[in-house]
Amino acid sequence: MKHVIIGNGIAGVCAAEAIRVLDESAELTIIGDETFPPYSRPMISHVLEGSQPHGKLPIRSERFYDELKIKALLGRRATGIDVDRRQVLLPDGAAVDFDTLLIAAGADPRPLVAAGTDLKNIFYMRTQAHAQQQVAALDGARRALVLGGGLVGFKAAYGLLKRGLSVTMLISSGYPLSMQVDPVAGRMILDALMRHGLTVEVGVSVRAFEGNGRVRAAVTDAGTRLPCDLVIIGKGVLPVRDFIPRDRIKVDLGVVVDEFMQTSVPDIYAAGDVAESVDIARGRPWINALWPEAASQGRLAGLNMAGRTVAYPGSLSRNVMRVFDLDVLTLGIANPLDETGYRILQTGGDGQRTYRRLVFRENVLVGAVLINAIEQGGVLRALIENQVPLRLPAEMLMRPGFNFGQLL
Ligand SMILES: Cc1cc2nc3c(=O)[nH]c(=O)nc-3n(C[C@H](O)[C@H](O)[C@H](O)COP(=O)(O)OP(=O)(O)OC[C@H]3O[C@@H](n4cnc5c(N)ncnc54)[C@H](O)[C@@H]3O)c2cc1C
Repeated sequence: MKHVIIGNGIAGVCAAEAIRVLDESAELTIIGDETFPPYSRPMISHVLEGSQPHGKLPIRSERFYDELKIKALLGRRATGIDVDRRQVLLPDGAAVDFDTLLIAAGADPRPLVAAGTDLKNIFYMRTQAHAQQQVAALDGARRALVLGGGLVGFKAAYGLLKRGLSVTMLISSGYPLSMQVDPVAGRMILDALMRHGLTVEVGVSVRAFEGNGRVRAAVTDAGTRLPCDLVIIGKGVLPVRDFIPRDRIKVDLGVVVDEFMQTSVPDIYAAGDVAESVDIARGRPWINALWPEAASQGRLAGLNMAGRTVAYPGSLSRNVMRVFDLDVLTLGIANPLDETGYRILQTGGDGQRTYRRLVFRENVLVGAVLINAIEQGGVLRALIENQVPLRLPAEMLMRPGFNFGQLL
């Protein structure tokens, strides 16, 4: 059997390990754009902040590929898939044959549309190489701009603050983490960011950068000119789809997979940030671009590629983060765009230290936001994942000290 994996991120790595456990003799090839041994992408901000002085974040041994007898074609980006010939195409005209294929190409940063993005010291934040380039640019830098108020923007801003830079965060939506939390939680988070030394402007985008070879200022859509020596862009990600033949393999925002992580073509699988699978809270296809999801989807795809039949229960959006003095936990549909059909209960927030928001569809919990009293997050997650119907009046759940465990 010839198993081929495109992508050497966590989904690809976990798939390879799962295949090797079931099949010691199969030919196993990984085609990977990045040349580092497998590393922790969520921790690249630690390189920026200086807590990883060697700039390395390994998650497997340096000899990972040899130990698993994997043919590693690193530093190479797949350019196409010939579905009929069962081949992955490489830029030099070479082709790699497969019996089963996993697309685990992850996501690329969403490109910022603005003039002057080619100036020096303007960075995205997706790879270990990006973080190392950012560190190299810190010398002499005093003022930094971070574009985007999501998780990546937070991590970048925190790293730059730790390096002693003066940091301004520009967020195009009305409050930070707008994809994960509601306006009340957003205001609490905004307040925490500003209290801890960040300048934050909301409802603002950059339309151009100015500089002489190297960035010196950003011009906002309101016409304001913000001097800066370094810029980090964290405006979300898009699944890598450029090499996928869409007339053959079904692609929506991501590559569409069934519960076995198989695409619309038999024996071709997808996993991780590139794959669109069922979201438990939404009950429909969705991409939850999260490290643990990518790992379990990759593992499961690998088992199925090696001949075992294992179904994926679906993914759930979830984040736990510390924003200076706030513990923030979000689960599922915390902020439905259209609230019709949802029932929302909330307590605390605005001037208080804690906040709890629960989102129900019919009598089933589908989302939650907790700030500073997050101990029961695990139980809430179980209620959402198991779609447990609520048997008590919902208002009881908002009483201080309510024990959610009794609902399971
Ligand atoms: C700064 C940052 C912080 C994050 N923090 C968190 C966090 O706190 N918690 C959390 O759950 N998640 C976090 N994430 C998200 C998490 O890192 C991703 O969900 C996860 O890495 C996805 O894994 P993957 O294997 O699907 O894709 P990736 O990690 O993107 O790996 C895909 C690999 O495939 C390669 N590739 C792409 N195209 C090709 C091609 N055509 N040919 C060959 N190779 C190709 C890429 O170069 C890459 O190496 C963070 C991400 C970033 C960038």
